[in-house]
Amino acid sequence: MRTAFSLFASLLAFGSMTKAEADTLRIAGINPGETVVVSLKGRTSGHCAVQIFHATAETELANFVPSASCKSEIAVFSRRHAMVHEKQVTWTHAEGDVHTVVLHPVIRARVTVWSESRAGRERATLDIERARELYLGNSVGVVFVADYRRLPPGLRETIIADRCEAVEVIKQNRAYIARRLNVYYIDHDFSSRNCAISQTPPDCPSAPGFPVRDGNVTFIGVNATRTALAHEFGHAFGLRPSACGGHTNGIPGFGPDNIMWAGGGEERVHFTLGQVFRMNTQVDQWGGTMLIRNGLRSGGRRCPPNLTNAVCPPLRADWPQ
Ligand SMILES: [Zn+2]
Repeated sequence: MRTAFSLFASLLAFGSMTKAEADTLRIAGINPGETVVVSLKGRTSGHCAVQIFHATAETELANFVPSASCKSEIAVFSRRHAMVHEKQVTWTHAEGDVHTVVLHPVIRARVTVWSESRAGRERATLDIERARELYLGNSVGVVFVADYRRLPPGLRETIIADRCEAVEVIKQNRAYIARRLNVYYIDHDFSSRNCAISQTPPDCPSAPGFPVRDGNVTFIGVNATRTALAHEFGHAFGLRPSACGGHTNGIPGFGPDNIMWAGGGEERVHFTLGQVFRMNTQVDQWGGTMLIRNGLRSGGRRCPPNLTNAVCPPLRADWPQ
């Protein structure tokens, strides 16, 4: 009786396998019921397309096939894991392929905060907390881990006078730790600035002529809003220059809720998928994303914010509903 039942069960299983009309995507490392967002490019039944969708531990796909002109790749975004970007996903012509993506924990990005007062340090603590919420909530796959130090005397005046030109003096005074984000809270009347580019290019065509400084350096003044640190870390992670899509003001599809919208406050809560992809992968002449520069990620891709092509998603590409 038991044997007959087992045979019946295995026949059923065999039957369903032979009738499979799809490939399968497996996500290893997520809990039952948890979902991630997948951006999957590849060729199915003659079409080369990018599909963006929610996936669980196992998701049925159409039949993806090999294609020299449509190289398949996949990006997986999660609120609890680092972003995964696989550039060479292989499929066969046959149905029943299973592709497995293994997720890893969120990236712990170290931040050293240099402040000149108790008030500055308290502002920094709140800003770091807000940045943590915004980066995890938008599936950037990064959590900020901060330590706090006192800004050596004398540097305040140099920073106020020279801004990003002060980076070398800051390093000479050992108020800087290599291969991590350094943020300087200055009790002075300005807002905020990331120093990847030495001076802010006034327009996009002239931007390539502006020299690199150090994307690991950010200044925060007393006029900064609570979301300014999250915004400046967006620049540090490669959303730059501001005039080339680093700032989203006036770009179709973006509004004041976007974290890279210049001049906003608490209403800035959103990164698009196109922004998050770049923050994890950006390669540019200003040092690219500090996640790669600081040894927290490998790989990378040159996808300026304002460039869309076969391998660079539109900046406005957003999360599925
Ligand atoms: Zn900005």
